[in-house]
Amino acid sequence: TQETFANVKATDAKIGAFLTLNEDAALKQADAIDADGVAADNPLAGIAIGVKDNIVTKGLKTTASSKILANFTPVYDATVVEKLTAAKTITIGKTNMDEFAMGGSTETSAFQTTKNAWDQTKVPGGSSGGSAAAVASGQVPVAFGSDTGGSIRQPASFNGIVGMKPTYGRVSRWGLIAFGSSLDQIGPITRTIKDNATVLSAIAGHDKHDLTSSDKAVPDFAAGLNEGTSVKGMRIGLPKEFLAEGVDDDVRKAILAAADTYRQLGATVDEVSLPHNQYGVAAYYIIASSEASSNLQRFDGIRYGYRAQDVKNLEDVYVKSRSEGFGDEVKRRIMLGTFSLSAGFYDAYFLKAAKVRTVILNDFKAVLKDHDFIMGPVAPTPAFGLGDELMDPITMYMNDVLTIPVNLAGLPGLAVPAGFSNNLPVGMQLIGRPFDEGTLYKAGYAFE
Ligand code: GLN
Repeated sequence: TQETFANVKATDAKIGAFLTLNEDAALKQADAIDADGVAADNPLAGIAIGVKDNIVTKGLKTTASSKILANFTPVYDATVVEKLTAAKTITIGKTNMDEFAMGGSTETSAFQTTKNAWDQTKVPGGSSGGSAAAVASGQVPVAFGSDTGGSIRQPASFNGIVGMKPTYGRVSRWGLIAFGSSLDQIGPITRTIKDNATVLSAIAGHDKHDLTSSDKAVPDFAAGLNEGTSVKGMRIGLPKEFLAEGVDDDVRKAILAAADTYRQLGATVDEVSLPHNQYGVAAYYIIASSEASSNLQRFDGIRYGYRAQDVKNLEDVYVKSRSEGFGDEVKRRIMLGTFSLSAGFYDAYFLKAAKVRTVILNDFKAVLKDHDFIMGPVAPTPAFGLGDELMDPITMYMNDVLTIPVNLAGLPGLAVPAGFSNNLPVGMQLIGRPFDEGTLYKAGYAFE
């Protein structure tokens, strides 16, 4: 643990992954583990963990990278943190992210810029960019991300590591600062598939605090991994929409090469179609923003965090605190969401988007009926340059075209490193049937 902190301090000036370090408490935790001893079959004991800063940690500042929560210290641990702490992992600190997880580059953080672990002129992706950069740069072997529309998978892809967005309901959202509650899932970001599988088994399962968490049995995903031959006889779908216009040549090449690898390993790869994939981004930005506009109402200057000074009345407290506390991207989402939900526009926007969501789910169901999983890129491009897209929200939103439909459908999605383009990593995405993360890990492991 001491070495971990020494290394984080030495490298974080370059990477900027961590917002808050948990040094005193972590060293105490480590001492306690030394004193108590650990079970021989506990692979997680003493493992250093980075926690995205929208996951609450008792006694440790949690900001969601927003000025409005700049001084917020939670009084309880999120369920995922509680579970891993019980497994004797050590929380090293809180990682940078896009403000309230809104963004794809970690540049909407109110506090600092995080750099890609491979090239410090590039973004780390987002919104879990701090977690991904921390893992890829060797600061911690495991970090938590949250994924509402790609925020675990895209930064994992941009940093050449492994990221799992579990099936909706697989992992408790208790203690995750809500963005789009019908889309949000917490998941592990790791260097290897096996590490990822180990952590998911430890954090998954029903939680009485989150009624959307499933009571389905949680397999020992790591034990389920078999080397080499595990994709033999599997049928894989490769949607033609995933390699269409807008996807970089190098990305397309990496995915086609991965398809060949799967064929050599004994799987069949068919071209399939997800005909409504292109409508995912539009539907998502309406649904996620609508849910966000509701979820963010609680930041009113009274209950949490930032409160504006020089106010004349209660209305002023709300308006000024929110105007000063939220950044531009968050305000954009609140306005879009409030508009979409308002009387007179609800049918045309929110309801329409909800219908599109069902159509997208049905596309996936049709393919997954006779395919074990779907493969494709995570993102259309490798990491882009810092500052390149921040001022262009539409371009930024379009980057999510391959990850968002998976959230809309509630399916599991795994990002696995698949190659390089000009020395930047390119990630492959494996998408599975509900609660079948095990097949994705097997397929990722066979490829890895
Ligand atoms: N880039 C998407 C957005 O800005 C996804 C964010 C996420 O998954 N948290 O909404």
